[in-house]
Amino acid sequence: MTRKHDAIPDNLAAVRARIAHAAAVAGRDPREIRLLAVSKTQSAGAIARARQAGQRAFGESYLQEALEKIAALADGPDLEWHFIGRLQGNKTREVAAHFDWVHAVDRAKIARRLSAQRPAGRGPLQVCLQVNLSGEASKGGVPPETLPDLAREVAGLPGLALRGLMTLPAPETDPGRQRLPFRRLRALRDGLAAEGLTLDTLSMGMSGDLEAAIAEGSTLVRIGTAVFGPRG
Ligand SMILES: *Cc1c(COP(=O)(O)O)cnc(C)c1O
Repeated sequence: MTRKHDAIPDNLAAVRARIAHAAAVAGRDPREIRLLAVSKTQSAGAIARARQAGQRAFGESYLQEALEKIAALADGPDLEWHFIGRLQGNKTREVAAHFDWVHAVDRAKIARRLSAQRPAGRGPLQVCLQVNLSGEASKGGVPPETLPDLAREVAGLPGLALRGLMTLPAPETDPGRQRLPFRRLRALRDGLAAEGLTLDTLSMGMSGDLEAAIAEGSTLVRIGTAVFGPRG
């Protein structure tokens, strides 16, 4: 393990302190908010350093590099791997086999493949549906209008456990404006609950906006830069 990873334990502690502070400001229990360390483009050595500091859940966006790191880190304590990238049909088999969570499901066809390809004996794959709140067609995510139909279908798939909703808003520095998409995601979650579909996870908040996300009810923040430093 090299010196260049020496900042990671302090970074993790600082992020955990930010989460605790944001929870206190919001009057929430900090234990309701999980920290997902986003390790895309980071080395297995960097992840090992975070693991040594007690971090167990890691988020990856690129399948090939993720599979290499999952294999390289299989010797130590059990890690929880989250696939947070855009998911194409030809990648579902490996994601279903090697990950514990998928955050960016936005089509029924992908969900059906993940369910069918989940190996028996691994338990259901934990799933969040990515919601597109910007209306930009180029961005991933299901539009809010068709979210209820997708949620009902995914909830019925045997290989999946539908846990919640995820969103990835456009970068925004104003804290008040940062909260708007997070508030909408929470309202969508509440709308599904009113229809009888209870979801326990709101995957929202990154290095630059985790306070705004926690203020709006985030239960899982996805933090890359603030844990590992800038991506190369
Ligand atoms: C890269 C990434 C993150 C982490 O972003 P940071 O700003 O580095 O914290 C979170 N979520 C998704 C979906 C990402 O792709």
